[in-house]
Amino acid sequence: MASVTFEKAQRWYPGNDTPTVPGIDLEIGDGEFMVLVGPSGCGKSTTLRMLAGLEEVNDGKIFIGDRDITNLPPKDRDIAMVFQNYALYPHMTVADNMAFALKMAKVPAEERQKRVEEAAKILGLTEFLARKPKALSGGQRQRVAMGRAIVRNPQVFCMDEPLSNLDAKMRVQTRTDIAKLQSDLGVTTVYVTHDQVEAMTMGDRVAVMKLGILQQVDTPLNLYDKPVNLFVAGFIGSPQMNLIEAKAVDGKATIGGYVVPVDATAAAKMQGNITVGVRPEAWRLVTAEEGGLPITVTVVEELGADGFVYGTCDVEGTPSNVIVRVSARDAVRKGDVIHVTTDPTSVHVFDTESGDRLSD
Ligand code: ADP
Repeated sequence: MASVTFEKAQRWYPGNDTPTVPGIDLEIGDGEFMVLVGPSGCGKSTTLRMLAGLEEVNDGKIFIGDRDITNLPPKDRDIAMVFQNYALYPHMTVADNMAFALKMAKVPAEERQKRVEEAAKILGLTEFLARKPKALSGGQRQRVAMGRAIVRNPQVFCMDEPLSNLDAKMRVQTRTDIAKLQSDLGVTTVYVTHDQVEAMTMGDRVAVMKLGILQQVDTPLNLYDKPVNLFVAGFIGSPQMNLIEAKAVDGKATIGGYVVPVDATAAAKMQGNITVGVRPEAWRLVTAEEGGLPITVTVVEELGADGFVYGTCDVEGTPSNVIVRVSARDAVRKGDVIHVTTDPTSVHVFDTESGDRLSD
């Protein structure tokens, strides 16, 4: 086992005007499950592939433990990679697929068999060892791909969207399986996904990336509760955080006639154009007399225990979309005008131009 350290690691693809990853600094602890998440094309795979040795590092360094692996060939890095297309050999049995890399590394047959049987047991694949991949479900094939990584007993697992070929139900199940397996094995893992729910449910920590640059590296809860900028605020959470443009004058933020409750830190810093962020579940219904932000309801999504109300509020003549989580008993209907408010601790204030967080 070992930590992984990126030190200003850069990937600049030949022929491109700018580097895809200008220089990433990231420390992943020994045994940690780190998820790299961000929109498609932001450089997640490139970062992972630099670690795996599948992409050249044009500047900076990468360490596994205290070994500088920046220029080592992939086979000497002690890494096992799991891809989204499992790339199993169709003509080989499950056992042979799992043993293949060991065979290439000239591990003796007896040792190979032992490791494959152990991995198969962990993954619940024992009864399938003699089968060919085509006789397996998608989820089982994914487990064989995991098995191939496990038998190598590497210092680091690199996983690139390993669940994206599975159907929705299988994805949820396999997500839990991989997280548990990783925690049982305690192997340092770097996992790439564009799916923020996957990132939040699997990672010990999550690194949010945009245009090749890390925005925030934090625990799932901190990302949710204290996003450092507008991008992270909008990217993490489903349904999305409400982000509404507002005006700040003398420490007071207003959306139309509604005075937004903000904490003292935000009150001291904000001036001019700000964006107010409130999670759908952080709104509270109030009566018209109590004030609050008036919202005209356009859609009500009933989910049983609770529901989501979609509506618009008026920001200086321009309608802005708002989502409010309500209880099923609140009986909100399409066409209603509801009033909502919240508390200073639930309001995220951002500078609209820089995107920086201004609240605590
Ligand atoms: P992600 O994994 O976040 O979807 P990638 O790391 O795969 O993103 O790619 C990020 C960007 O890097 C792409 O949008 C593309 O512009 C560029 N890129 C990736 N691979 C190559 C390549 N082989 N040659 C040139 N540019 C590439």
